[in-house]
Amino acid sequence: MARSGHFYIDETCIGCGACEHACPGKVDAIYAVAGDFLGRFAIVLDDCIDCGKCVPLCPAASIHDARSEGVIEGSGGYTRIKELQAWARERAE
Ligand code: SF4
Ligand code: SF4
Repeated sequence: MARSGHFYIDETCIGCGACEHACPGKVDAIYAVAGDFLGRFAIVLDDCIDCGKCVPLCPAASIHDARSEGVIEGSGGYTRIKELQAWARERAE
């Protein structure tokens, strides 16, 4: 299975766009969620390289590292993150 990142954006995102600029150009894992009326952003887990550059730029503290929260693969928290990523992926294309 391909390796994937661990950073995700929760529902508190205010859509400022700062994180999108922080994500390294070739990686480009952060997307504005198309059609979201709150203008939120999301991280596509499969593209994220875990650099962490987006985290300090978020004014709403909406970006999290699943590993530091103790979220492990197969747990309910992990399922939620995967759902958030699927949501991002669907709307990024
Ligand atoms: S951790 Fe790095 S690669 Fe992942 S979304 Fe944030 S800036 Fe992009
Ligand atoms: S920096 Fe934070 S509030 Fe701004 S778009 Fe990114 S996740 Fe949302």
